[in-house]
Amino acid sequence: MAILSPPSRPPSRNGAYLALSESVSDPRALARRFGADPDGAAAAAQSHPALVNPYFLSLIRRADDPLGRQVIPHPAEILDPGHPDPLCEERLCPAPGLIRRYPDRALWVASSACFVRCRYCMRKRLSPESAVAGDQALEAIRRDAAVREVILSGGDPLTLSDEKLEDLLARLREIPHVRVLRVHTRAPGAWPFRITPELARLLASFSPLYVNVQFNHPAELTTQATKALATLADAGIPLGSQTVLLAGVNDRTGTLAELFQGLLELRVKPYYLHHLDRVPGTAHFAVPLSRGLRIMDRLRGRISGMALPRYVVDLPGGRGKVPVTPQYLIRVEPDAWVFRGPSGRAVRVSQPRQPGAPDFTPCGKLC
Ligand SMILES: *Cc1c(COP(=O)(O)O)cnc(C)c1O
Repeated sequence: MAILSPPSRPPSRNGAYLALSESVSDPRALARRFGADPDGAAAAAQSHPALVNPYFLSLIRRADDPLGRQVIPHPAEILDPGHPDPLCEERLCPAPGLIRRYPDRALWVASSACFVRCRYCMRKRLSPESAVAGDQALEAIRRDAAVREVILSGGDPLTLSDEKLEDLLARLREIPHVRVLRVHTRAPGAWPFRITPELARLLASFSPLYVNVQFNHPAELTTQATKALATLADAGIPLGSQTVLLAGVNDRTGTLAELFQGLLELRVKPYYLHHLDRVPGTAHFAVPLSRGLRIMDRLRGRISGMALPRYVVDLPGGRGKVPVTPQYLIRVEPDAWVFRGPSGRAVRVSQPRQPGAPDFTPCGKLC
């Protein structure tokens, strides 16, 4: 059962005190606040309840702005059946909450609670109150020597208290074959006050431990989020980020360029740009793969390679994540490979059939 740990002191923003207990879960109230349709929001929230904490709420200007779209129930959700578990995660569970899809990694839904409930959530089938049987998952990891890496995911594992997290991480660290730990959380962008120096020290003490955060729009990179990320980075925790490609939120090259460059500046390496998983109620977030590829193509060469994540599709049926990349190899000729450079110009790289001969065209001839 997830326990929200009380912050060491009440976080304040603009002089006002913010408390998680003041999160808004009434879909009608959320819709009304931004002049959206209360009945539509209420109907949408029936299958996936709403939850927006006061901090994230303070960043929203309109129901359909990039932040509002992520969390405010929308009538379009009702019309879209989708599939509750497209990745067949339920079939890959050796213990409740433990998803074992890859040979060397186990993903543990350590808490199904969250700081905000995202409308596109790929695990919306899990109820936020569903208890996570920790002992069974731990036992399954202990018995399975192939597990090198455990990913604490959710929900959001940082909704657990420091005490609970410490206990859980310590028990994982006792298992000799578990070499690397990973924590997947939206806290730095969705409830940055959760990231205290004490929490950062705690996480850092279980090194090698990686934290992967979720940011979808540059407007989430606030002063508070910046501070939360700095607290983690200063404690020596390596940071990666995951972004979900969402229509009307971030499906523009300029928006993603700003987000990825901003993250890199805050010492976060953009890791994955996720193609949307088509769970129910997400049709209005879908971005065609071709558009995603075009955006990735425009980003390549425009922003630092360090800021460029991999664009990944999680294959239905739990077949795994695969990267999709724009085509840069245009043609293979008998003695040359022809590439398209980031500027769009074709470049021939000769492949002589005679062994020992130089296998590239001297740049003098290219220029
Ligand atoms: C995404 C995912 C992982 C981690 O995959 P990486 O490519 O290593 O980040 C592990 N297990 C499951 C079930 C996942 O969905």
